[in-house]
Amino acid sequence: MTQVPPPIPFNTPQEVLDDGMNIFRTLLRIDTSNPPGNEHLVADYAVTLLEEVGLEYTRFEASPGRESVLTCYGPDNEETVIFSAHVDVVPANPVHWDHPPFEAVEADGCIWGRGAIDMKNMAAYALATIRYLARHQISVKRGLKVVLFADEEAGCSEGSLAIARKHPEWLKGSIAITEVGGFTTYVDEHRVYPIQVAEKGFVWLKLHIEGVPGHGSMPSGEGAVDELARIVQHLSTQPFDFRATQPVRDFLEGIAEVLGFPRGKIFRAIGNKRLSDLILDNLVKDPDKTRVFRALLRDTVSPTMTDGGTKANVIPSKATLTLDCRILPGTDPDTFISNFKDRVPGNYTIEVIDKGPPVVMDRQHPIMEVLTELLKEADPGSHPVPQMITGFTDARAFDEVKTPCYGFSPVWLPPEIPFASLFHGHNERIPVHGFMWGQACTLELAKRLCGTE
Ligand SMILES: [Zn+2]
Repeated sequence: MTQVPPPIPFNTPQEVLDDGMNIFRTLLRIDTSNPPGNEHLVADYAVTLLEEVGLEYTRFEASPGRESVLTCYGPDNEETVIFSAHVDVVPANPVHWDHPPFEAVEADGCIWGRGAIDMKNMAAYALATIRYLARHQISVKRGLKVVLFADEEAGCSEGSLAIARKHPEWLKGSIAITEVGGFTTYVDEHRVYPIQVAEKGFVWLKLHIEGVPGHGSMPSGEGAVDELARIVQHLSTQPFDFRATQPVRDFLEGIAEVLGFPRGKIFRAIGNKRLSDLILDNLVKDPDKTRVFRALLRDTVSPTMTDGGTKANVIPSKATLTLDCRILPGTDPDTFISNFKDRVPGNYTIEVIDKGPPVVMDRQHPIMEVLTELLKEADPGSHPVPQMITGFTDARAFDEVKTPCYGFSPVWLPPEIPFASLFHGHNERIPVHGFMWGQACTLELAKRLCGTE
C-alpha cells in the first residue's frame, strides 16, 4: 500500500515550518533520557527562544535538574488554551539504532532521534507557534499557554503532578492539548486519526509473600518462591472481567463506520463479551493489535519484578512480586486494591507503590469537533476517531485541576512507519514532511482556539 502524503495545509508561513524544524532538531540533540531526565537543559534552551521574541516565562524545579517551563502569549485566565508536551524521553540504546539516537540525523526522508514522536515534536510545534504569534504580535481573543513538562516517562511526579499540587494555576485554562493522538494510522486503505479522550488508571503493587523455609535438598512446595509462582500462575490464567467502556465503544463505532458493511458490523462486536476473542483471533490477528484491544477491555495485571531467596540451597521464607495493574474507567484504584486479596489467593501482604485513577474526557466537548474538522481539512478523506490508551500521560495532572485535556500531537505517517513501532521503540523517527504537516496543524489549531483575527 502506497499513500501520497497530503500537502502542507493551511498556507502555513515558511518561517514557522523552518523555526519548528530548527527547534525540533536542537531538542532531539539534548539527551533527556529519564532517568535521570536532565530537563533543565531543555529549560535553558527554551527560555532563550522565548526571550528572543519577548515572551515571559516561569521555571519550576521539582528537584535538582528536573525543570518544567511555562510561558503565555495573551491573557492568562480561565479562557486560556494550553499546549503541553513532556520533554523527557525513555532511554535509547544506540546498539539497536541505525542512526545515533541523540544527533537528529536526517536520512531516508526522516529525522531520527529519541523523542521524535514522543514527544519533542509537539514541544517544537508549540514553541514555534507561540513564537510566531509573539513575533508578529498577532491579536488573540484567548491566550495561548505553552507548558513543557519534566518527568512524564517515569510517572509525572517530578513534572506535571508536582505542578498540579504546587502551582495548579499553570494547568488552568479552558482546554489543554497533549499526547496521544493526531497521527496517521491505517485500517485497510483508510486513514484513521485517533484523538485521545481517555486513559486507563494504574495501581503498582508490591506483594510481600511468605512461605515456610527449608533445605533445598528437600522440596516442600511451601517456600515463598513456590507461593510466588502460584500467584503468577493465577494472575495469568484468571483474567479480570471483560468490560466494554464507553470510550472503547466509541472507538469501535468510529472504526466500524470506516469499514462499512459487513466488516464494520463484525469489528463492532469486539465490544461484545461473547464474540470479542473470536473476532480478535480470526479477524484482527495481528498480535500487536489484539494485545491492545484485550488490554482496553478489562483491568489487567502484569508481573514485572521479582525478588526472593539468598542462597542456592535454601528454600526462602520471603519473596516479593511487583505488579503493574492497569484499571478501566469505572474501576476505582482503592476499591481495586481492597478487592485484590479476595480475588488473588495467597499468603502475602500488599504494599501500594503508586496509583492513579483512570482519566475520561467528555466525548461531546466542542474541542472534538474542532480537532475532527481540522484533521479532515489537513488530510481530506481521513477519519478522526476518539480513543482510549492503555498507558497514562500528563492528562492525569490536567484532570486533577479539572482542565479538559485531549490527546493531539499531529504527525502524518506513511503506512510503512507505524506509530506503535516508533513509540518507545528503536529507530524512533519522524518523516520531515510529516513533521511539517504536524507543525501546520498545530499553528492552525492555535489560531482557531485562540481566535486570531
Ligand atoms: Zn509521551
